[in-house]
Amino acid sequence: MKVITAAATGMCFGVRDALVTLSDIEQPQSVAIYGELVHNEVVLHQLQTRGFQQVAETERTSIPAAPQIVITAHGISNRRRHELTAAGKTLIDTTCPLVTRLHRAARELSDSGAFVVVIGRADHVEVQGVTDDLESFAVVRSVDEVGTYPATRIGVVCQTTFPTTDAAAIRQQIATCNPTATIQWTDTICQPTKDRQQALNELLDQVQAVVVVGGRQSHNTLRLVNTCRQRGVAVFHIEQSTELDPHWFDGIATVGLTAGTSTLPETLQQVHDRLTAIASH
Ligand code: SF4
Repeated sequence: MKVITAAATGMCFGVRDALVTLSDIEQPQSVAIYGELVHNEVVLHQLQTRGFQQVAETERTSIPAAPQIVITAHGISNRRRHELTAAGKTLIDTTCPLVTRLHRAARELSDSGAFVVVIGRADHVEVQGVTDDLESFAVVRSVDEVGTYPATRIGVVCQTTFPTTDAAAIRQQIATCNPTATIQWTDTICQPTKDRQQALNELLDQVQAVVVVGGRQSHNTLRLVNTCRQRGVAVFHIEQSTELDPHWFDGIATVGLTAGTSTLPETLQQVHDRLTAIASH
C-alpha cells in the first residue's frame, strides 16, 4: 500500500503561535484558558498536565477565579473582553489575526448600516464571539437556513474555517432571497483552511481511502471528513495513531493522509509512521 500525505495539512500558524505563547508561561497554575484552546484532545490533555485551568466553552459566560486569562485563537467579543478586564483580569491574547480580521470586517459592515449575515455555525465559539458585538445579524450554516432579511444592504462574512464551495452556494442563495438588496461579501475564510481543502481535493483524485487526523469536535477536521464522504471515498477519522486498525486497509492500494489545523506535528508524524508500517506488511 502506498501512503500519500496531502500537500497542505496539519497545524496552522494561528494554533502554533497560541501554543508557543502558552509554552512561555512559567506559572500555568495562575492562568485559566477561556474555552478550549483548540478542539484537540491531545493538546488539551498536555495543557491540563502542565497545570492550566480550563474553562469549558459552555461556561464562558462566567468570570474565572484565576488572575490571568488566556483568550484562545478563536477569539472573543469586545463586550466579553471588557467584562474580563473590568473584573481585574490580565488577558493573554492568542486570538488568531485571521479571526481578528473577521471581527473587524463584521464590525465595519455593521457600523456602515448593513445587516450582517455570518456564514457559519451559530454554536461555534468563533461565531459567537463575532455576533456578541452585533446588534442585528443572522447566522446561516446551510442554503436551507437563508432567509429574506429586513435590509436594503446586507454584509456577508464567513466563519474562518468554513468550506469555500459551501460558502459560495450560501452567498448565491442570499442574493436569490434578497433580490433588491445590495450585498457586500467580505471573504474571511482563512488561507490555511483554503489550502487544506484544496490539497484534500487533489489528494482525493489519487487514493481509495483517506485517514483524517484531528479532534472529534474540530470543525475544520469534520469538514475534511465530510469532503471525503461527499466524494464517495472511504474515510477514517482518528485522533491518535493507536486508533489505526490494519484491517481498515485490506484491498486498499493507495491511502491518503491529512489532518485538521489543530493537530500537533508529532501526532501527524506518528500516524504517518504507523501507516507506513502497516503498508509494508
Ligand atoms: S484555522 Fe485559520 S483562523 Fe483558525 S487559528 Fe488557524 S489560521 Fe487562524
